[in-house]
Amino acid sequence: MSEKHVYSFGKDHAGNDVTEVAGASVEEAKWIVGGKGANLAEMSKIGLPVPPGFSITCQTCVAYSNNGNVWPEGVTDEIDAAMATLEERMGKKLGDAEDPLLVSVRSGAPFSMPGMMDTVLNLGLNDESVQGLIKQTGNERFAWDSYRRFVQMFSGVVMGVSGQLFEDAIAAKKAEKGVKLDTELDANDLRDLVTWFKGIFAANVDVKEHPEVSKNGYAVFPSDPYLQLRLAEQAVFGSWMNDRAILYRKQNKIPDELGTAVNVQVMVFGNKGETSATGVAFTRNPADGTNERYGDFLINAQGEDVVAGIRNTEPIADLVKVSALKEAGEELFHVFEILEDHYADMMDIEFTIENGKLWMLQTRVGKRTALSALKVAIQMYEEGRITKEQAVSRVAPEQLDQLLHPQFDPNAEYKTIAKGLNASPGAAVGAAVFSSADAEAFAEAGKPCILVRWETTPDDLHGMVAAEGILTSHGGKTSHAAVIARGMGAPCVCGVDTLRIDAANKRFTVADSGLVVNEGDVISIDGTTGDVILGAVELVQPELSGDLQTILAWADEVRLDESRGRVIGVRANADNPTDAQTSVDNGAEAIGLDRTEHMFLGERKHLIQDFILADSEDVKQLAIEQLGRAQKGDFLGMFKVMDGKDVVVRLLDPPLHEFLDSPRELDVEIARDEEQGKDTAAKRALLAKFDAFQEANPMLGLRGCRLGLVYPELNVMQVRAIASAAAELKRVGLDPRPEIMVPLVGFEEELIQVREEVEQTIKQVADEYGVELNIPVGTMIELPRAAIMSEEIAKHADFFSFGTNDLTQTCLGFSRDDVESAFMPLYLERKIVKTNPFATLDKGVAELVRMGVEGGRKGNPNLTIGVCGETGGDPESIHMYYNLGLDYVSCSPYRVPIARLAAAQAKIQANGGPQKIATK
Ligand code: ADP
Ligand code: MG
Ligand code: MG
Repeated sequence: MSEKHVYSFGKDHAGNDVTEVAGASVEEAKWIVGGKGANLAEMSKIGLPVPPGFSITCQTCVAYSNNGNVWPEGVTDEIDAAMATLEERMGKKLGDAEDPLLVSVRSGAPFSMPGMMDTVLNLGLNDESVQGLIKQTGNERFAWDSYRRFVQMFSGVVMGVSGQLFEDAIAAKKAEKGVKLDTELDANDLRDLVTWFKGIFAANVDVKEHPEVSKNGYAVFPSDPYLQLRLAEQAVFGSWMNDRAILYRKQNKIPDELGTAVNVQVMVFGNKGETSATGVAFTRNPADGTNERYGDFLINAQGEDVVAGIRNTEPIADLVKVSALKEAGEELFHVFEILEDHYADMMDIEFTIENGKLWMLQTRVGKRTALSALKVAIQMYEEGRITKEQAVSRVAPEQLDQLLHPQFDPNAEYKTIAKGLNASPGAAVGAAVFSSADAEAFAEAGKPCILVRWETTPDDLHGMVAAEGILTSHGGKTSHAAVIARGMGAPCVCGVDTLRIDAANKRFTVADSGLVVNEGDVISIDGTTGDVILGAVELVQPELSGDLQTILAWADEVRLDESRGRVIGVRANADNPTDAQTSVDNGAEAIGLDRTEHMFLGERKHLIQDFILADSEDVKQLAIEQLGRAQKGDFLGMFKVMDGKDVVVRLLDPPLHEFLDSPRELDVEIARDEEQGKDTAAKRALLAKFDAFQEANPMLGLRGCRLGLVYPELNVMQVRAIASAAAELKRVGLDPRPEIMVPLVGFEEELIQVREEVEQTIKQVADEYGVELNIPVGTMIELPRAAIMSEEIAKHADFFSFGTNDLTQTCLGFSRDDVESAFMPLYLERKIVKTNPFATLDKGVAELVRMGVEGGRKGNPNLTIGVCGETGGDPESIHMYYNLGLDYVSCSPYRVPIARLAAAQAKIQANGGPQKIATK
């Protein structure tokens, strides 16, 4: 193999930077050396203090996996050479008994997957090198603590030995000594623990699985540091395919084929005493976007201690208040500025201070809540760091969902039982549950729940996804629970230290009040304030305001700017005045789909039943007149709200029998009546009629435009209602703009015949009212034949609207109503489909859309083309629709803001990415 597998970063022995960059930009490099590796290299390059090391590429991981977890030829030589160079650069050797080099082995994929894969610290320690570490530091306790941590991590990460065994051993040691804290154990205790831990290793590692550590058939903790290193590298590559990582990728739509890099990096120590510390931070507040330093640190601690919530952390702003750390703290705050200047974004940072010297261990663009994303984007624009187009591109459309989700009703009265950190905004109400398994069980039973944990671990991911919100008694704002919840947009309150959680007995006690909350008791949490409440607090939908309004306005500016590329509209699907008003409030320019069948439900159901079932023409006629009056009322309401804006009304579409009651229920009723000796003749007659309407494949049956062809009076009634409502409003000076959409057309002749009738009726109404009515008539494209024959059909249509629900159904031959339970999960699992094709436009269906657009524009150059299916509100699909040349997308009223943002981003991307300001 000729490709390069290893890239070095950091300085050499003489202090020269020898970083080998893997790409022209961090964005490019991250595909090769992963996000962590690319940013470590980038930080070295701009002169920040980064412990030296090297990255083994993601492509090597993929090759290793594909090769059956065996190193492809030549790769280990390249790694060994890089390691030898690193030893040379440091003037130290792995395992040296005088002055040993220690390294960490860290994973790092192209996308950040916090806490998803594993890291081994202090690698290179054995019984000899620990003595060297003592000699160099004069700190016996530190050396043995590092060693026992290494044995513990190596056993866990590389060999899969349960961490609990080690925790138990530590607890036993503390009990034996009569102390409470880890820090109260002395060097001798820690040395004992190392021996003890090796015993745990020997007893729990299966040599058949790990022959590399077998000595005479027994598992022995490997003392050879080069073997330690190789096994750790293999474990990181192996961890790419562990269940946790696979689930996380599925959740976050990250492809499995990317692989992870391995970063081997010289250790620095935050646990060398009071002049050392370690911490994690954000350059701004990732919860609400305030421009302030945000994060936690721990004095005399290593790595994961901060996020593990084992000790209570201190706020990052206080770093400069500790005199021994003041200088390093000030340097760190200066680094924040350098990073923001360089990346022009809010950054997430991991650092360690060793004996007063600052080291940068990681940086990446910080994950943030929607609230924070908006504020940071706007402020960075105002600070002149980014353009409006960049600001618009910085907010993930899906994230807006968080803001469009419920909050506590400001008028609700409630009493807070406890207060914690406001780690992820939004409010949630649900039953308290105490394990991830229970959270899943509750969710499956349709019971909303709140996951209550001491602190979450990556193993809790299932439960966190299932729960409405997360509540923890431990950990800071950068704890696992907080980071993941923010990423998922789930409300989270963490670090509620008054909660005494008894997970075994499924309850918690509030320390100051003695209040006990058991599993199933309903609680409410507010991730924006940190409040915890017993009972259900009323929730309200938030309004579009402030920062969200600003970003959406900028998005519209870009989206509607003809000089920046093709314009794409955003409409909403609404069938009543309230939803129409919500649509307008959320920024919809028109109604792209007004489904009239929803107007036939409730009290009106009996009218349509009479129409379908009555034997007498008079009854039928009366029913249809009444329906017509009712519909006209509906349209008056819709057109008033949408004055001056288009409303695309679809003629009746679903199979008629959907308006009938279930024959099965009637059957049961008849049986019961018979038992009681009642006369059932009438019900039997009704049942016979119901049966007559049953179809083997109703979705392929009498529906869509076929209905109006079989029952012309339905179309006449609907068109009359639409046209007369419009005429009435025109008379009083309003500007109603209905359009009539014929569903499920496959043959041009269907549209020709229906259109003729529709136009006749419109003309009649126009004459009756003495007004001019200009009502465009178009069709939904939701059958493959219609897409294929679009040129012919377009000659008779003023507009097309792709109905991707049916189009997907008929293109794939999947029944939308059944796939979910039948086979979709399996298809997703086996990657037969990448995403649910009813949620995100399938490539094959997109091909039909492409044909439809092409033919449609040929047949009628003035054709307006949109989409009104479920996918119309899906950001990924919106990108496809932009590129397919659609004039608008139409989606549910609540997704309109998401669609506005996604459409703007699609346009920006299609036109070469956001305009930028040169970074400093
Ligand atoms: P994750 O991707 O899960 O954040 P990391 O590779 O960042 O895992 O490692 C976790 C923690 O281990 C880091 O935050 C850092 O504190 C510590 N760590 C990693 N490498 C080193 C190192 N070379 N020196 C000191 N600490 C390190
Ligand atoms: Mg990290
Ligand atoms: Mg349809």
